[in-house]
Order: sequence, then structure tokens, then C-alpha cells
Amino acid sequence: MAVVDPLIELRDVNKYYGQLHVLRDINLSVGRGEVVVVIGPSGSGKSTLCRTVNRLETIESGTITIDGEPLPEEGKGLARLRSEVGMVFQSFNLFAHRTVLDNVSLGPLKVRGRRRDEAERRSRELLDRVGLASQAAKYPAQLSGGQQQRVAIARALAMDPKVMLFDEPTSALDPEMINEVLEVMQQLARDGMTMVVVTHEMGFARSAANRVVFMADGRIVEDRTPEDFFTNPSSDRAKDFLSKIL
Ligand code: ADP
Ligand code: MG
Repeated sequence: MAVVDPLIELRDVNKYYGQLHVLRDINLSVGRGEVVVVIGPSGSGKSTLCRTVNRLETIESGTITIDGEPLPEEGKGLARLRSEVGMVFQSFNLFAHRTVLDNVSLGPLKVRGRRRDEAERRSRELLDRVGLASQAAKYPAQLSGGQQQRVAIARALAMDPKVMLFDEPTSALDPEMINEVLEVMQQLARDGMTMVVVTHEMGFARSAANRVVFMADGRIVEDRTPEDFFTNPSSDRAKDFLSKIL
């Protein structure tokens, strides 16, 4: 879909793993403050798409720009860009031997060169925002999965990203913990954060997404508003997918 003020823009992006053509002619714009939910069958390229946006993966052709700047190949530019694109994965990847507070403040301290008191003050604010102000001194293993994922979100936010990418952030969680994470994400969306969210949580897609992007076999098959997509999917692939999950 055409977007007025794109923060992320992918044009004709193609990626291969060896012979496997995983991203095929991807064109995607994400506007400032927009929430784009990406859905599709397993193996359709959703994670690869996320990973190309912060250059964890190289691409064979096409262009990716973030806030008007082409993705740098390597070096300082790349490190800066990565710090502007926050990423939250299915597995939380917290530092096990660091406290919750340290997990959130290490990035700003090491990468951004902030002063410790400043970094910790801001980290406490972010922990408060994700509902974990009282857990700052604990270690990750002392928290539930839902709490750990909220720490991971606070940690990503601590770098002041322009955009947040979520790759199935609730898929590894016990059912009773899914909502506490989705609620934090809903609030972020309401606060105006630009977000790309890969998820199977269709309730979240309906209520938080400005657009739903449906992928199959490395292609974007549909890119529509949630109302349109859920009431009137136009492709057989999307109809088939929805019939299996709804
Ligand atoms: P999704 O997230 O939609 O399930 P992925 O982006 O993880 O899909 O994977 C897309 C395709 O690329 C799949 O066929 C997967 O097996 C393959 N793939 C993913 N990562 C690698 C890799 N590092 N090396 C080779 N093939 C990969
Ligand atoms: Mg995936």
C-alpha cells in the first residue's frame, strides 16, 4: 500500500539461501507511527523479512531504506542503524547473569555511551512502563516468561529505536502470559511507535494493526487493512490460511 511518510521502505527485495528463493520481489512501506502485522504460514519468509530490515541478513537485490537512509553495508553506520531498529524475538535472549536493570541499561551504557545514573534512571522508567518497576534487582530466571519478554521489550526501547520489530513475541509463552505482553505492545502502538509485528495473534492484528501483510512462499500476497483482510481475503492462500487458524 502507498504510504505518505515511510519510515521503512523495501523495494524489489530478493533474498536467497543458496538455491532457496526466500524473499521474492518484496515491496513494503511502513509509515511513521504505523503498525503492520505480518502473518503467513510457517516458512513463508516472515522472520527473514524482519532480519533483513536490520541487516542481520544480506539481500541479493533491491533496496531497503530506514527513515530515508539506505541500509549501510557495514561499519559504524550499520551499528547505528541497528540501534535504531529495536528487535524482540520469540526467545527473549536476556543476559542470565545480569539483573533486570542491567539487562535494560547495558545497551545505552555500552553502545550509546550514556552515564550510568542517567542510563539506570531511564531503564527504571521503561521497566515501569512495561509493569516491572518492582523487578529491577531480580535475575531473568526469577521471572516468568511473560515478564522476561517484557524486559526484552524494555531493553529494546532503551536504545530509543525509531521502529520496533517483533518476531512472534508471544509464541514461546504459556497462554496465560500472552496478554500481558500484547497489552504492552498495544500501549506502545497507542503511544505512536512504528511497529512491524509477526504474530499469530489475530485479536492483536484486528485491534492494533493499521495494515495486515499476508506472506506465502516468500511473497507478499496481500497488504490490506485488517477489516478488509479478515472479512474479505482476496487470495486462495489467505482464505486457506485463515480457515486453518480462525
Ligand atoms: P517464517 O518465519 O515465515 O516461518 P523463515 O523466514 O524463517 O519463515 O524461513 C523462510 C524459508 O527460509 C524457510 O524455508 C526456511 O527453512 C528457510 N531458512 C530460514 N533461515 C535459513 C537459513 N539460515 N539457512 C537456510 N535456509 C533458511
Ligand atoms: Mg519465523
